[in-house]
Amino acid sequence: MNHPLQNKKPNTDQLAGTNIRLLQRRLKDWFSEEGRALPWRKGGRKRDPYRVWLSEIMLQQTTVKTVTPYFESFCTRWPTVQALAAVPLEDVLHAWAGLGYYARARNLKACAETVTKDFDGQFPESPTDLQKLPGIGAYTAAAIAAIAFDRPAAVIDGNIERVIARLFAIDDDPKRAKARIREYAALLTPAQGAGDHAEAMMDLGAIICRPTSPDCEICPVAGHCLARRLGIAEDIPVRPPRPALPRRSARVYWLERDGQVRLRRRPAKGLLGGMLEFPATPWEDRASPLTEPDIVGRLSPSGALEKLPGGVSHTFTHFHLDLEIFTAKADSIDEGPWVAVDDLEKVGLPTLMLKIARHGRRHRRPAD
Ligand code: SF4
Repeated sequence: MNHPLQNKKPNTDQLAGTNIRLLQRRLKDWFSEEGRALPWRKGGRKRDPYRVWLSEIMLQQTTVKTVTPYFESFCTRWPTVQALAAVPLEDVLHAWAGLGYYARARNLKACAETVTKDFDGQFPESPTDLQKLPGIGAYTAAAIAAIAFDRPAAVIDGNIERVIARLFAIDDDPKRAKARIREYAALLTPAQGAGDHAEAMMDLGAIICRPTSPDCEICPVAGHCLARRLGIAEDIPVRPPRPALPRRSARVYWLERDGQVRLRRRPAKGLLGGMLEFPATPWEDRASPLTEPDIVGRLSPSGALEKLPGGVSHTFTHFHLDLEIFTAKADSIDEGPWVAVDDLEKVGLPTLMLKIARHGRRHRRPAD
């Protein structure tokens, strides 16, 4: 049975029986003592919008730990939006390799060019204008507006969504409860200090109000938390069971000539768009007929294909991929790109291709 305060319509002073101003103050005090010192937070409240934007794009679907070295490397190589706009896309994709979701890197470059050309190198400040830029959706626009420009925008990332769902005991699938969570987030956001508030909520979710085993005993807003009062903190957010991912498979070709391996570049759009890869058949469900890449048809008779032992598997967001790897001598093929076997780790291969590179190196036939 629901608590009488649970699922109550929010109002501006009291949220499900809690005093908003007091909650905001407790959160702010905790954040000033315990907030995380992250590289993109240097500069206190006077943040460089370029670094805020870069960090927010990198942090989409990616952890702080993974992002940190990439962020530092990008800021060293390209310290301004103009510097990033001026480099070739391939350099950006190379530097992004391993961070995943490569459409972000292409949009990053497109956004840097737009801000440089159309906005004289200055990011717009309002969420509405920010959302018109490539790669910036509603969440990222709100985060940049609040954190870089202290605009009173309500920011809702995964951590904040969970904290709000628990504070107000929203025991529904967050996807279905999106509108309510948005409403609470807007009412919780202060008119001034929205950036600190957003980062405090993010940190609370990351450090204390964790997905499992929230540390309610030391939580600065425990006195305001309805889920804690009801003893249901661990049951929120409610997650519907995930459907099983489909499996796809393909053949990959490790074609070698003089200690070098043949790569190719993927089409600019789509999964791993614009990244280097090994030639392969299309990634399809198991029942699909095999369509070999042209290059396999051009191997000379001495280039008989041989299957390497084992294989490589990888899981993307929407499917599992199983790969068999075939090798052949490719003396009859001239056009590249060819990369020395020992340099495969240095050319900016995405994670899946690095797995294949390591498998190929381990099992390849020694040169004749
Ligand atoms: Fe999260 Fe517990 Fe704090 Fe509630 S009291 S916000 S569940 S950590």
